[in-house]
Amino acid sequence: MTFLGTGAGEGYPDIFCECDGCREARSLGGRNLRLRSALLVNDDLLLDLGPDLVAAAQQCNVRLSTLRTILVTHGHRDHFHLFNLVFRKPSFTSVRPPRLKLFAPPDVILAIHNAFPNLEDVLMDVQPVAPFENWEHNGYRCASYTAFHGGEKMQCLLYSVDDGQHRFLYATDTGPFPEATWPALRGQLFDVIILEETMGPGEYPQHMNWRDFLAHQRRFQKESILRPGGKLIATHIGHNWNPVHDKVAQILEPAGITVAYDGLVIKL
Ligand SMILES: [Zn+2]
Ligand SMILES: [Zn+2]
Ligand SMILES: [Zn+2]
Repeated sequence: MTFLGTGAGEGYPDIFCECDGCREARSLGGRNLRLRSALLVNDDLLLDLGPDLVAAAQQCNVRLSTLRTILVTHGHRDHFHLFNLVFRKPSFTSVRPPRLKLFAPPDVILAIHNAFPNLEDVLMDVQPVAPFENWEHNGYRCASYTAFHGGEKMQCLLYSVDDGQHRFLYATDTGPFPEATWPALRGQLFDVIILEETMGPGEYPQHMNWRDFLAHQRRFQKESILRPGGKLIATHIGHNWNPVHDKVAQILEPAGITVAYDGLVIKL
C-alpha cells in the first residue's frame, strides 16, 4: 500500500494559512507536507481520485496506467477530482491504458456520466455502490459501509478490500461510525485499518478527533475487527488542529497507532 496523500481537504500546509502547524510544516518539509488523501494498493487499485494525484504520483514515482479498479469514497473535491479522468482520452494518452472500473456512490457516478457521455472515450466502466454491498473485481473482494459524513445530500462510503490473503478497511472521511456499520465489521480481523484523524484535539461531528480515534481503536480490538498485531493507521490529517507529523506521532504512536505520511509504503 502506498499512501499517495495523507492530508485533509486543505492539504498540510494550507496554502492560505499561517497557523503554527502550517508555518512549522513549511520550514521542516519532509513528512510534514501532506497532499490530499489517496491510497494506491499494489499497482492496480486506487482509493480516491483527488486533486493532487499528479503531484503524488510524481513524488512517489508510481504510474497509474496499470490501474484496473478505483474506489471513490465520496464526492467531496479533495477525494474526487473529475478532471483527472480526462487524461485517459486517446487525444492525451498516446499509449492507451487498460480498461478500468470505478466504483462510487451514485452522485459521483452521475457526475462521471455527465462529464463523459461515452465512457469508451476514457476506457472505463462505472458501477454505483450503496452501503453494505459486496462485489469482486480484478481479484479483490470489496465491501461498502456507511460513513457519517457529508450531510443528507451526499452519500459517503467506507470500503474494505480482501485479496484472498490480506484484508484492510479504508475509513475516510467519517465521523464516529454509524451504529449500523459496526455489526458489518464485527469479527472481520482486518490486517490493516486506515482511519481518518482530521481533527486532532478539535471537535467536528463529521470527522474524527484523537478521542474518537482512540475510542474506535478500543472497539476494533474488543469486537475483533482488527486482528491482534494488526496495524491501525491514521490519515487525512488536518492542519487546523493537528501539529506537524512528528508531534502527532509522539501523541499517537505510544498507543500503537501508525501516523501515515505521504509516500509511506506498507507491505503485507
Ligand atoms: Zn476529505
Ligand atoms: Zn494551518
Ligand atoms: Zn469529505
